[in-house]
Amino acid sequence: MEKTNLLGLNRQDLVDFFSAIDEKAFRATQLMKWIHQLGVSDFAEMTNISKSLQQKLVDIAEIRPLEIAVDQLSSDGTRKWVFGLNDGNGIETVFIPEDDRGTLCISSQVGCALDCSFCSTARQGFSRNLTTDEILSQVWLASRLLDEEKKPGRKITNIVLMGMGEPLLNYDNVVKAIDVFLDDFAYGLSKRRVTVSTAGVLPAMDRLSERHDVQLAISLHATRDDLRNELVPINKKYPIEELMNACKRFMARRSPRSRLTIEYVMLSGVNDSIQHAEELIQLLDGISVLINLIPFNPFENSGYKTSSNNAVRRFQDKLMQSGLTTVIRKTRGDDIDAACGQLVGKVADKSRRQQKFIKPRFGMNS
Ligand code: SAH
Repeated sequence: MEKTNLLGLNRQDLVDFFSAIDEKAFRATQLMKWIHQLGVSDFAEMTNISKSLQQKLVDIAEIRPLEIAVDQLSSDGTRKWVFGLNDGNGIETVFIPEDDRGTLCISSQVGCALDCSFCSTARQGFSRNLTTDEILSQVWLASRLLDEEKKPGRKITNIVLMGMGEPLLNYDNVVKAIDVFLDDFAYGLSKRRVTVSTAGVLPAMDRLSERHDVQLAISLHATRDDLRNELVPINKKYPIEELMNACKRFMARRSPRSRLTIEYVMLSGVNDSIQHAEELIQLLDGISVLINLIPFNPFENSGYKTSSNNAVRRFQDKLMQSGLTTVIRKTRGDDIDAACGQLVGKVADKSRRQQKFIKPRFGMNS
């Protein structure tokens, strides 16, 4: 019988798991604390659990994280991992420290099916959804590895689902992982500190608003359908007007002071003119937003160029003048390819060359 990986269970799942083996419900919260707050993976270390229950757990369950395939530290403190999955695939997780927070950027799928034209993950195509334990394992491993640094300012205070994949196309596993991010017996993060980023999967946005009041970021990137169809092809299915209506529905369910994050990648000569800024102002009229301008992160044969600093600043000024809070996202970890999809792409390319087209397998610290 395959052992249950307890890393992938939310509180209710754990209660059900213990009830199935005739154990009391309070074991669920004990286990959650051991696993997620204390980072313990060995049942023998769980001192408030009897030896006989420990043995029972060893027989039927495990706390098994992903393998660490690549572990890199940038000169600016950004730390990036490629975690290896059972099937030989790899996914990326990045820790980004800032003065007042530590943000962990996690992946939700292996590759991505959305095929956005400026995204390097898109070039890998789509392999599969991550399971809940694979999503939670990224946070579990990152917290442990950061703790081991024993340095101040290396704590995960925010989680963003902005790594590889479209989180809302892996809805069930993602919301279950979010349960654990928010659970006081696990990571206990406030809902304002968990961000789901989506290219706009409208039905799942509506479902999410019923389940979790977390921060939502929309990858808008264009103000008209013809351009957005090109940059973010899911727009052909859910065009801008419908997307904006879904954003309004989402915000209507949230607490009144909350804001929607709008992500807008700055592509030179494509979407970065003053006219685009004016169209954006019109489009966002009536929605409470925080705009994130993201300098395009270049990769080989992307066909795009990053907007100049001047163009980005002009665009920001225009939005600010109309009262829209607009921040320019800093590029981080440049020396370690910390932008989404880039490191796995490189590791895969390199292994492909070495292994003559055999699918790369990630081993411990390889
Ligand atoms: N699929 C989700 C989340 C993953 S990408 C989404 O689309 O929102 C997280 C953000 O990074 C998205 O806004 C995405 O459009 C942006 N992004 C992707 N590739 C980029 C690149 N090369 N440079 C800058 N931003 C990029």
